[in-house]
Amino acid sequence: MQQIKHIAILGSTGSIGTQALEVIKTHPQLFKVKVLTAQSNVELLIQQALAFQPEQVVIGDETLFPQLKEALKHENMEVMAGADALCEVVTSSEIDVVLTALVGFAGLKPTIAAIKAGKDLALANKETLVVAGELVTELAKAHHVKILPVDSEHSAIFQCLVGEIAPIEKIYLTASGGPFRGKDIAFLSEVTHHQALKHPNWVMGAKITIDSASLMNKGLEVIEAKWLFNLNVDQIDVIVHPQSIIHSIVQFRDGSMKAQMGLPDMKLPIQYALSYPDRIENNFKRFNFLDYPSLTFEQADTQTFRNLALAFEALNKGGNMPCIINAANEVVVAEFLKERIGFLQMSEVIETCMTKLDFISHPGLDDYFESDRQTRIFAQELVTSI
Ligand code: NAD
Ligand code: MG
Repeated sequence: MQQIKHIAILGSTGSIGTQALEVIKTHPQLFKVKVLTAQSNVELLIQQALAFQPEQVVIGDETLFPQLKEALKHENMEVMAGADALCEVVTSSEIDVVLTALVGFAGLKPTIAAIKAGKDLALANKETLVVAGELVTELAKAHHVKILPVDSEHSAIFQCLVGEIAPIEKIYLTASGGPFRGKDIAFLSEVTHHQALKHPNWVMGAKITIDSASLMNKGLEVIEAKWLFNLNVDQIDVIVHPQSIIHSIVQFRDGSMKAQMGLPDMKLPIQYALSYPDRIENNFKRFNFLDYPSLTFEQADTQTFRNLALAFEALNKGGNMPCIINAANEVVVAEFLKERIGFLQMSEVIETCMTKLDFISHPGLDDYFESDRQTRIFAQELVTSI
């Protein structure tokens, strides 16, 4: 009999978090939820806590603590609030895996706390690796912690590498191209957040959906891949594949290529990260070749979608530059969602931040927090001046 895995989910009310709970619910003999956390969706968090009976529940927004506490007062659970509580709950001795399904820079601190406590990570929160990939992967190595990718492209690469000992020559990250693939600058200057929120293949949280429309998501994933698989920038290529069936490709030094494919469904990479190294049965819909008589590929248009080029530039530059683009991007996406700036202005603000903020070639953890803070202030000023 397999041992049950004890899981903490940071961001359980989001797109990844709720899909992870679906996977866990189907396999109660394999997985047990110990910790659930959310930022502000207290109603859903309460429902999840009642259904999954974790030992600890955290709400990020402290004003919602009384509501959470009241609703769970008859349950045998510890109820907490605030960002610091996230760092506390991931260290519990019983947890085997921490699923980082929260969004943005906010994932950095609890991720570090989880690694220091020796917990394996099922990592969805790509922003953490974008900001501090070197620091986080070195720390994971030092603490013998596995980082199991949840992002579908990185899960694909990870799956292609199982059983391989030869080095990677190159990887191809596939990109759907998002809802605005093939559109020009004139079109993009007019698009609204409603249009940007309609992704052709995936249903995801708002921030990553906007990032997918602007190709920043692919840029962040290039940086994520660099750290997960210890690659140089020139070993990473992006190819647009609108059907989202091939989730990414590894090329080895003999020219052989391995791809991982399947229908676009995040439950599969989530499940693999939780069940690794095993594969477990499920009833997810299977791929049928005849439904997809042609799989197509094209070059990404980095002239029109500047964010992807900016992310490559940030990765080439290194230091705190990826932290700067991440912070600037978090600000502009939030502002675009509030209709305070246009789609193309997002890249303009990010680019200005890259040229104006202090560059640090060898940042430490405190530098990342300071760069993040300064960039947010500056980006916000730029948005206000538009
Ligand atoms: P989402 O917006 O749907 O959910 C985010 C979750 O994090 C929610 O539970 C929310 O309460 C919590 N949260 C938000 N801000 C927080 C904060 N400041 N502190 C603590 N918790 C906070 O997002 P999502 O689409 O599930 O994405 C989560 C992460 O997974 C992101 O990093 C995203 O890039 C990555 N990812 C998502 C998908 C997908 O299909 N949704 C695919 C690949 C990678
Ligand atoms: Mg992805």
